[in-house]
Amino acid sequence: MSKFWSPLAASLVPYVPGEQPKDKTYVKLNTNENPYPPSPAALKAMEDAVNDDLRLYPDPTCDELVRAAANYCGLSPEQTFVGNGSDEVLAFAFAAFFDPAKPLLFPDITYSFYKVYAKLYGLSPKLIPLDEEFNIPMEQFQGEHGGIIMPNPNAPTAQLIPLSEIRSLLERNPDNVVIIDEAYIDFGGQSAVTLVPQFPNLLVVQTLSKSRSLAGLRVGFAFGSEELIDGLNRIKNSFNSYTMDRVALRGAVASLADEAYFRETTDKVIATRERVARQVKELGFRSTDSKANFLFIEHPAIPASELFAELRERGVLVRYFNSPRIDNYLRVSIGTDEEMNTFVGALREIVE
Ligand SMILES: *Cc1c(COP(=O)(O)O)cnc(C)c1O
Repeated sequence: MSKFWSPLAASLVPYVPGEQPKDKTYVKLNTNENPYPPSPAALKAMEDAVNDDLRLYPDPTCDELVRAAANYCGLSPEQTFVGNGSDEVLAFAFAAFFDPAKPLLFPDITYSFYKVYAKLYGLSPKLIPLDEEFNIPMEQFQGEHGGIIMPNPNAPTAQLIPLSEIRSLLERNPDNVVIIDEAYIDFGGQSAVTLVPQFPNLLVVQTLSKSRSLAGLRVGFAFGSEELIDGLNRIKNSFNSYTMDRVALRGAVASLADEAYFRETTDKVIATRERVARQVKELGFRSTDSKANFLFIEHPAIPASELFAELRERGVLVRYFNSPRIDNYLRVSIGTDEEMNTFVGALREIVE
């Protein structure tokens, strides 16, 4: 507490990201980063972008990247927004679309940034409890409310909602904005971007951080009707004209153009996920049905906090959430095959 803080600053409960340790080198499976490097074409484009032009401001409307992303999804530039990581896009969307006078609906177990943004913008969240199997009870997302947000696949449970259920959700809630946060959609889901032309209340948010190996670049997207994209631009242009730097703009365009590399690395992550899911089950773990680049696992006899500490001692870092309902689970990002062999070996040692 400081006497210099505004009442707003004093009231906040900031998000705590997974640690980026500096004490030693870990097998780092705690922040859902991609284990493979970014597309070589993207790296080359960024190297080329480091030149004298950096004295100039970047394009405030990000035209080239907006067109590339729109084209990639089969939408128009007017239906496309880009931002400094999808977290920024989400922050703008919370400010642009949610009514503080009514409850904002999201699952009780979900991306913990939603609560933080709700607090920042004075919104009142209404948490909808997942069932015992961590399924989202979609039919409970209706009635009088000020908006809906959920990730698909959900985090940290990794479970996917079928596209048909997203469609029904939109049909039942035509008068409020529904945000689907697709940070992990490329690892086995069907994107809701195909529904954008039919539902003016749908905003789909995506990122280059996970499936494109560019968490360090900070590039996120939103796809929605022209009126929603206009709403996002109103907030953005009241906050920062230049959210995207020249290097990020070039790298993002080149990354989207390298479909072959994207397919190859995503397929590798998926194959490794399926193998490790089998192996941890053989070791006696319960694992949710993951369609993301991480597993969410629980052992019936050994507390997750203990597993977390034992893994850490063996140089393997995973994510442990000390929160109700999920405090016996570990979230384990999918690394390279070699990294996952180290992880499974360490688990085997601990369990046996
Ligand atoms: C990683 C993640 C994000 C944030 O991604 P950035 O683009 O790196 O800001 C947003 N939503 C969910 C559910 C995520 O897991």
